[in-house]
Amino acid sequence: MLKKLPENLEHLEELAYNLWWSWSRPAQRLWRKIDPEGWEEHRNPVKILKEVSDERLEELSKDDDFISLYELTIERFKDYMEKEDTWFNVNYPEWDEKIVYMCMEYGLTKALPIYSGGLGILAGDHLKSASDLGLPLIAIGLLYKHGYFTQQIDRDGKQIEIFPDYNPEDLPMKPLKDEKGNQVIVEVPLDSTVVKARVFEVKVGRVSLYLLDPDIEENEERYRKICNYLYNPEPDVRVSQEILLGIGGMKLLRALNLKPGVIHLNEGHPAFSSLERIKNYMEEGYSFTEALEIVRQTSVFTTHTPVPAGHDRFPFDLVEKKLSKFFEGFEKRNLLMDLGKDETGSFNMTYLALRTSSFINGVSKLHAEVSRRMFKNVWQGVPVEEIPIEGITNGVHMGTWINREMRKLYDRYLGRVWRDHTDLEGIWYGVDRIPDEELWQAHLRAKKRFIEYIKESVRRRNERLGIDEDVPNIDENSLIIGFARRFATYKRAVLLLSDLERLKKILNDPERPVYVVYAGKAHPRDDAGKEFLKRIYEVSQMPEFKNRIIVLENYDIGMARLMVSGVDVWLNNPRRPMEASGTSGMKAAANGVLNASVYDGWWVEGYNGRNGWVIGDESVLPETEVDDPRDAEALYDLLENEIIPTYYENKEKWIFMMKESIKSVAPRFSTTRMLKEYTEKFYIKGLVNKEWLERKENAERFGAWKERILRNWSSVSIERIVLEDTRSVEVTVKLGDLSPDDVLVELLIGRGESMEDLEIWKVIQIRKHRREGDLFIYSYVNGALGHLGSPGWFYAVRVLPYHPKLPTRFLPEIPVVWKKVLG
Ligand SMILES: *Cc1c(COP(=O)(O)O)cnc(C)c1O
Repeated sequence: MLKKLPENLEHLEELAYNLWWSWSRPAQRLWRKIDPEGWEEHRNPVKILKEVSDERLEELSKDDDFISLYELTIERFKDYMEKEDTWFNVNYPEWDEKIVYMCMEYGLTKALPIYSGGLGILAGDHLKSASDLGLPLIAIGLLYKHGYFTQQIDRDGKQIEIFPDYNPEDLPMKPLKDEKGNQVIVEVPLDSTVVKARVFEVKVGRVSLYLLDPDIEENEERYRKICNYLYNPEPDVRVSQEILLGIGGMKLLRALNLKPGVIHLNEGHPAFSSLERIKNYMEEGYSFTEALEIVRQTSVFTTHTPVPAGHDRFPFDLVEKKLSKFFEGFEKRNLLMDLGKDETGSFNMTYLALRTSSFINGVSKLHAEVSRRMFKNVWQGVPVEEIPIEGITNGVHMGTWINREMRKLYDRYLGRVWRDHTDLEGIWYGVDRIPDEELWQAHLRAKKRFIEYIKESVRRRNERLGIDEDVPNIDENSLIIGFARRFATYKRAVLLLSDLERLKKILNDPERPVYVVYAGKAHPRDDAGKEFLKRIYEVSQMPEFKNRIIVLENYDIGMARLMVSGVDVWLNNPRRPMEASGTSGMKAAANGVLNASVYDGWWVEGYNGRNGWVIGDESVLPETEVDDPRDAEALYDLLENEIIPTYYENKEKWIFMMKESIKSVAPRFSTTRMLKEYTEKFYIKGLVNKEWLERKENAERFGAWKERILRNWSSVSIERIVLEDTRSVEVTVKLGDLSPDDVLVELLIGRGESMEDLEIWKVIQIRKHRREGDLFIYSYVNGALGHLGSPGWFYAVRVLPYHPKLPTRFLPEIPVVWKKVLG
């Protein structure tokens, strides 16, 4: 209990400890009313309740306006929490086993600074939508003592990183207690010892997020510090963090007496959980093969980036050492360790996740393609096109990211149903009913609010640094371009500065002024990213760019919310295909802000020719540094010829584009759509697999089948292929001790030079077969062989294992046997 609350305000505490408030307007108004200054500063209801005086509470308890706002809020909160006909309950009433979501970072609210960027924000939005849809989902993460850093920019444009010391008691979370009221402590094997972690619970609507924290007295000093910083770059500490998350996370489920239905590994960081699960099943008496299969068939893995630094790889012996206690007394340690080995002999968290999951996805269609190529080595003999990695495109939680002006408009012209059915495209046609002028005025109000924020932010910085200067004074009718993201070099924050002469003309036309606002943090170890920031800051201080280019400090969720709705154009110019998805552009689009983006990530799917612009052409070919000048040129051309003239001379077209943007993006790039896709394509199938495999006799039968395949696979071969004419083919296959029921024999037809790069035209299953001694003759008769022998065409026959319960056609540990048909 924080403090004694007046009786008619007794639910305030419950409200403070549930992040539902972070996407509820009335709740936010309520907190602001209690303490306007505190709210502006930290947006943390727990702190507000801790700091508010008894007199103030007493006063509020007698304030009719406040009481009616309070009652409305509590009623909405109750309705939300108690709703029974959620999407999940209506569609999948039979399932209540938990889906366990695991991630290194969560970006839920400014008040809980345990995120660094896109991955965290996506995870946060995932939880909020899971709650909205009623998914039986819980989440596991780590609590970082100093969170991610607060950024300041000094007089020279240098990034200063400040790591505040958070007091867990001030954060919107509570210590997790067991039934007896004791703090839950999880014991995690690490090095040759056992590290203890306490657990905090963050409530996100109906979803619980559990954060592990090793900073307790029972631990040796060096273990207390493991989670001081998010993404500690020291391999030793980083592995420790990931063991804590993965293995500790699974221990926590045990402590809670929860048997997970499905585990969702969001990025490779939590993949040690797979080792813990496999080991647990083995200790319960399952064989390695059975255990791996249960784990794999109930695991979802989402990979998030093509950038190599985003994939953790550790020295193999380091991981072995860190897991020494974990493996104590366990005989099959090599089998488990091998699951993480990559081509270089390193222990690769992404490979571990790939080999222990059967539901794998990239975060956009294009990124799935890129990932299939990146990880093709995990599946031998499989064309890149068929590598089992799907694309489930990211989305954003519209309740969080649509600003209050637009929200009001949508309520009015779409009806409040848009909130609960965000992904229904039809609802969004209602945007056409919004009068142009009304939409424009709402947009201007959002811009004004962001302009106020800019002023305040610059004023504070000037004050801190003793700079005596006017703050930028921007007219909200001017064109404002926003660029905010992590300062990773591939995002090319400096692209717009390639030709300062040209830029000067573009920004300084007195009739058509243009402002560019930058914000973003560079990773503490990313010197190149920091150089970018410094360069932009320096340019912003040149007389010709002063108060035209503005750099804001400390990009975070709070600023992002104002910024993605308070500019006119959202600029995105990464080097393709490095932006796996990107989500800030979705937030902008749903607020009527137009995207100007290279053709990468989500924009490949989002762009429709009317809802924004593509910088350069609509190619998806990978780019290198060499392409930077070309893209810069294209960006300038776009600004000069399209964006600026349209903004200043054709407002009607601009507003038409705003409407197009909202209509086309809001439903399709909402996490509502995304969560439904994860549920339908992955979660439910995982739950079905789980139910089947948890019956020991099924696991045993399936395991026995797979063992047989593994034992005999090396004797499977394609002995002979005979072409009768262009109409029929006969394939002689040796199966050793396997039978035709155990395999598929397929004819593969496509274009290309190699199996890997095959562009598949057709895959034909050859069923007809006869036995001749210990050989099987498969024969296929049809006209489909017409192109055989034509240049560019590729024909092959292949044999792969088959069992009706196999979740994917291809398995990492069983290479496809194939042979080219020569015609
Ligand atoms: C949305 C968001 C991101 C991710 O944006 P990208 O487009 O993926 O770069 C990062 N940080 C914050 C604070 C955000 O709100």
